[in-house]
Amino acid sequence: EIYCDNAATTALDLEVLDTMIPYLTNHFGNPSSSHAIGRKAREAVEESRQKIAGLLNASENDIFFTSGATEANNLALSGAIKTYEIKHVITNRLEHKAVLQTLGQYSQNNELETDFVKIDSRGNIDLNQFEWLLKNNHQTLVSLMHANNEIGNLNDIAKIGELCKKYDAIFHSDTTQTIGKYRFDIKKLNVDYIIGSSHKFHGPKGVGFIYINKYRKIQPHIYGGAQERGTRGGTENVAGIVGMAKALEIAYRDLEEYHNYVAFLKSKMSTTLHDLFGEEISFNGESDSPTNSLPNILNVAFPHLKKGGVLVNRLDALGIAVSGGSACSNLTNNGSHVLKTLNRNLDKDSVRFSFSKSNTPKEIDLIIKTIVDIYEQDIFIKKTEQQ
Ligand code: PMP
Repeated sequence: EIYCDNAATTALDLEVLDTMIPYLTNHFGNPSSSHAIGRKAREAVEESRQKIAGLLNASENDIFFTSGATEANNLALSGAIKTYEIKHVITNRLEHKAVLQTLGQYSQNNELETDFVKIDSRGNIDLNQFEWLLKNNHQTLVSLMHANNEIGNLNDIAKIGELCKKYDAIFHSDTTQTIGKYRFDIKKLNVDYIIGSSHKFHGPKGVGFIYINKYRKIQPHIYGGAQERGTRGGTENVAGIVGMAKALEIAYRDLEEYHNYVAFLKSKMSTTLHDLFGEEISFNGESDSPTNSLPNILNVAFPHLKKGGVLVNRLDALGIAVSGGSACSNLTNNGSHVLKTLNRNLDKDSVRFSFSKSNTPKEIDLIIKTIVDIYEQDIFIKKTEQQ
């Protein structure tokens, strides 16, 4: 079995698991209880908050725990819209559905006017048009992700943040794919909200966080408890929070090594595929660019198989886990809204390979060999049929 779908989720690091076990066993207390067992859990939650804040150069008061990035996106957008009576939003059609559908809830009732930034065929944002939109509207909320989870494109959030500041817009960035992969100095970045999801950086699933700039408020979205300073009620996922903090610490400890390693795997994959398939294949978005995309995502458009269905499923049957679009879009079976929006390679069979420190160069060789075998067999089937 080969797992090459690390943009969907990553394996839990065993070092992380070790830090979680005490909080699933002996230290099982409720962090809101005032006795010693509860205080032990509270201590762990607050130490984790400090650790995460420290890694991002944020203040611990600005970090709030959630169940993951979907919830954090919902909280940021709904919270900002309600708190600031937002009437206008600028976003991108390539954003994650957690952003697009949350905004969709408000625009449905004509409460919110939405502008989508102009993008080119590789998914790059037109910053001039973005600035024009900012200049010609007020009370704007901007939601633009740091890196796209399907094609890996990086957006210049430092520049976007500066423009938001210049025109007094509120800026939320979905940083799910870049937290733990790029260094953040929140004090220097003009962002109001950014988010993280533990399972994208070898932490446990079902836990994440949102950073809320201290100059911005947000209305609570889960009522009924005073946890997370009333912003998000509900007993904290103590072991999950401890695991997430440890996972992020490891990610930043090993960042350069990780970066170089996964970039090497990706470049090995893209150059070998290009050598073997030539013009038969192409790369979606900026995913083949070493500078404009994440080091760990490569999205490749292959020719359709004449026989035997979709390449992702053929690979799955042979023990190789990759994905077509994002894991979230698999559930709806509508295909990738990102590739549809780019209107590129829709007649092709696109595969997203996403690497992590758990992958090896040998696995890349095996994946490529398997793909070559599948296509050779496909051509063979086609030829024998013609005879
Ligand atoms: N935003 C982006 C960019 C993502 O890649 C994902 C995960 N696919 C999410 C949000 C949702 O994250 P979670 O699984 O933590 O809800």
